[in-house]
Amino acid sequence: MIIAIDGPAGSGKSTVSKKLAERLGFKYLDSGAMYRAFTWKVINAGVDFNDKEGLCRLLNKTNIKIEYSKDGSKIFVDDINVTNEIRHPSITGNVHHVSNLEFVRKKMVELQRGFAKGENIIAEGRDMGTVVFSDADKKIYLDADIKERATRRYSEIKTFNDKSNLNNVIEDLRQRDHRDSTREFAPLKQVADAFYLDTTNLKIEQVVDILIKEIEKNSKTGKL
Ligand code: C5P
Repeated sequence: MIIAIDGPAGSGKSTVSKKLAERLGFKYLDSGAMYRAFTWKVINAGVDFNDKEGLCRLLNKTNIKIEYSKDGSKIFVDDINVTNEIRHPSITGNVHHVSNLEFVRKKMVELQRGFAKGENIIAEGRDMGTVVFSDADKKIYLDADIKERATRRYSEIKTFNDKSNLNNVIEDLRQRDHRDSTREFAPLKQVADAFYLDTTNLKIEQVVDILIKEIEKNSKTGKL
């Protein structure tokens, strides 16, 4: 069974997806981590983000691997564990350079489908329900008010950058939303067959409870 969860940054996708996976005994796929991992590689290899041929050559010799465990997924680039590094603001600020490239998306989609093959999975990202798993058993779109999303993000990034402030985070999110939803390939969009949930005034456990009920409605037996 595949549950596809999409939505903008800070909508609660990652936390909710991890908890859902835990409660349902499913595997969890953080597709954003893959785009972040390649961004990490580009920066480390010193390739210019405008050099498409260089990026393509680099991608062809890059091995990205996700290891799932109940204590949290780990992501490796050429066997280097980059799980923590990819959360750094320098990655967040540059990931759009690679996530907008068709050849990058093609490789990531293959990896994501391979990871999900034959598994029960909660797949989280921007194009899970629209492109990667367009035949998912359940599609969910999480959203939240931008101020609330920025407040959530701010508390996460304070550990990396104590000079950031809420207004900067709001501005960064606006830019990221705009880029992710207007890009040429696999833009973030809410599709008609997705269950839409605004998480602005909901606690994580409330969101998870609502989604489990919704997923059960879709399963033939009402039980998972
Ligand atoms: O989800 P996260 O914030 O880690 O994603 C980082 C970036 O990766 C997004 O802003 C987006 O540009 C890209 N991404 C994507 N498609 C996905 C997941 C993430 O383009 N399925």
